[in-house]
Amino acid sequence: MTISGTQLAKEIKQEVKEKVEKAKDEFGRPPHLVVILVGEDPASQSYVKGKGKDAEEVGFKSTTIVKPEETTEKELLELIHDLNDDESVDGILVQLPLPSHINEDKVIETIHQSKDVDGFHPANVAALWQKRPCIYPCTPKGVIKLLDKAGVEIQGKKAVVIGRSNIVGLPVSKLLLDRNATVTIAHSKTKDLAKTAAEADILVVAIGKPKFVSADMVKPGAAVIDVGVNRDPITGKLCGDVDFDACAEKAGVITPVPGGVGPMTRACLMENTLECFLNKMQKK
Ligand code: NAP
Repeated sequence: MTISGTQLAKEIKQEVKEKVEKAKDEFGRPPHLVVILVGEDPASQSYVKGKGKDAEEVGFKSTTIVKPEETTEKELLELIHDLNDDESVDGILVQLPLPSHINEDKVIETIHQSKDVDGFHPANVAALWQKRPCIYPCTPKGVIKLLDKAGVEIQGKKAVVIGRSNIVGLPVSKLLLDRNATVTIAHSKTKDLAKTAAEADILVVAIGKPKFVSADMVKPGAAVIDVGVNRDPITGKLCGDVDFDACAEKAGVITPVPGGVGPMTRACLMENTLECFLNKMQKK
């Protein structure tokens, strides 16, 4: 069975939209998301456009700030400080990757934790690992929601996550662990990767290699979540890290690319922005 991230994302955004309507009545304004794009990378431009479109769809105030490639780190940090101080801004997202002359870690640390809708701030990351209240990073949150929607039991299951990046592999592993899965984190140095993967009841793949996971790496009936976003080297079309056609026959449930984790990441961004807004307004 294919799990449609597009459909689930639509449902989540509808729920956010309804909550925004209520929040507007209660607090007099909708949440305000600011997305900053530095440079002209076409993939980043398209991601930013999508985020703005979703923000408007759920009824947020949405601002996109586009800065030229040659923007200095100092200028970007000053902009973030201004947005941190701006009471009318509830969420700040800086589209990654940034041009190489800008230190991404510094940028992420500068966004105030309370406006960190991506969940990348070190304080948010620490809170996640300490099981304290935090903003869950969007993509890992989307992965868990897809598994829940498909009715996949997580507790007690063997989960293998291929990839250990700070933004996907590690936080996905932590969220699966918190749901009482037994988690193996695999990476480029893992020996017998195919054998490890084939033991998984839940296989999450986030490596960035087109159609890397073949059918022999999938346990019959497993839940396969494909986070990868790549271009097929032959067709040039968008594809995941999993060879979908080959693995779909073996998997119990599987996510497609496009239409799987991608739209869920954006829907979770909308949820996170609403959460930051409500946290702020309810404290007042
Ligand atoms: P990343 O930072 O480049 O990390 C890649 C991870 O994959 C690393 O941990 C690396 O291992 C591992 N890896 C690479 N080659 C491998 C191999 N041959 N065997 C086993 N492991 C291997 O990538 P990322 O940021 O996590 O992103 C991964 C993919 O997800 C990309 O395609 C990205 O575009 C996509 N993505 C999608 C969304 C979405 O919303 N759909 C969001 C974020 C990312 P080492 O640690 O040993 O180097």
